[in-house]
Amino acid sequence: VANLELKELAEKDALTKLYNRRFFINIANNIILLEKREKRESSLLMFDIDNFKKINDTYGHPIGDLVLSNLGKILLEYSRKSDVISRIGGEEFMILLPNTDLISAKQYSEDLRKIIEKSYIKMNNFEFNFTVSMGLTLIKHDDTLEKAITRVDNYLYQAKRNGKNMLITD
Ligand code: GH3
Ligand code: MG
Ligand code: MG
Repeated sequence: VANLELKELAEKDALTKLYNRRFFINIANNIILLEKREKRESSLLMFDIDNFKKINDTYGHPIGDLVLSNLGKILLEYSRKSDVISRIGGEEFMILLPNTDLISAKQYSEDLRKIIEKSYIKMNNFEFNFTVSMGLTLIKHDDTLEKAITRVDNYLYQAKRNGKNMLITD
């Protein structure tokens, strides 16, 4: 295989074409350092598909995979080139928004949540849609990526507890 293919295999998740967790952590740490040095703000968004187990149970695992690849496409279309988008786990995603304050990041996240809610998975005989729950935080000057991840994880947990398909933020 060509070098570019090897690079893609190491950095990206085959199903969604998004960065994998390891690559995301690496590049996010570097960007956060750079943004701090340049005195710019960045935001971190984490989200998780709602009731994904039910989607798998109802329609089958291959359709679950189709939901994930469709979501990957939506994210790549919707985001800016500078955004770092990752599938960090099974049905969990993270996006680092460099040079983005909390107000803009909220707008971005809410818009994304609505786009996902409105996009349908269309099969021959049926169609369905799905939703995501989100946690968003501003990365502070004395922050580490680890601390910011702990906060968004917590917000995401609250979003699930409060009824899902919502954004919780600082
Ligand atoms: P919640 O709304 O609280 O997030 O519930 P949930 O059902 O989405 O979450 P749960 O953690 O109970 O289930 C996640 C499911 O995601 C279980 C697992 O089988 C499925 N999953 C993880 N990775 C993949 C994948 O690559 N493909 C498919 N089809 N399913 C996957
Ligand atoms: Mg999950
Ligand atoms: Mg889930």
